[in-house]
Amino acid sequence: MKRVLIIAAGLAGLALLLLGVMTVSPRTQFVMGGALVNAGFRLQDPLHNFDLEKPQLTPQEVWAEFKQQNDLSAKVREQFPRSTEHPLVALLVCMDARIDTSELAGDTRRYYYVVRTAGSVLGPEEQEMLELAVLNGVKVLVLTRHTDCAAEQVAADPEKREQFPRLSAAVNERAARVAEFLKRPLIAERIAKGELLVEQLFIDTRSDHLVAEEPPPPPTAAPTAAGQAPTPH
Ligand SMILES: [Zn+2]
Repeated sequence: MKRVLIIAAGLAGLALLLLGVMTVSPRTQFVMGGALVNAGFRLQDPLHNFDLEKPQLTPQEVWAEFKQQNDLSAKVREQFPRSTEHPLVALLVCMDARIDTSELAGDTRRYYYVVRTAGSVLGPEEQEMLELAVLNGVKVLVLTRHTDCAAEQVAADPEKREQFPRLSAAVNERAARVAEFLKRPLIAERIAKGELLVEQLFIDTRSDHLVAEEPPPPPTAAPTAAGQAPTPH
């Protein structure tokens, strides 16, 4: 009974907080929303034991866990349908699981398209997708690379290059593909008219900070053990 009262008091407090938030400026609501999202991340981030307690999970058990989480998340989304926003920014980001584009943007409202590829390579299909995004109203393209990228490490390792020749070639051709993309007539025209801005930046994987130059690696970083497969960043 006491536990029910505590939960009820907590919910009442949360409701009062939300009511209070609704009365402040949109900017303050935005920042407070970000703070609440971050509180959720901080709650989940340290739960390493939640996975490590079950190290012998089979692929079927991992999938069942994933699907269960998706079902729960979808039920919440059904109760609170997401408002549709029109993206003005498109991001090209590596598939590295450490990078969360909502955290990167500091915004969970999906005001941006996201194209994710291994090593942030920009193949013909991705070029067309980004051009379609520009046609749909995107004004800023952010083409990113990131620190400690496994795809770049593969491309720099002769042994791994043999195992992953297409990925390695794509990483090596990335700059040429970007130059090719910038010469596409629609893209070049929009840039020339000042209607489109294209930024090429690094993501500092540790902080999600977008920076102009690749930051130096941390001095205490341990080298990858010989023969150990890189994580699929
Ligand atoms: Zn990467």
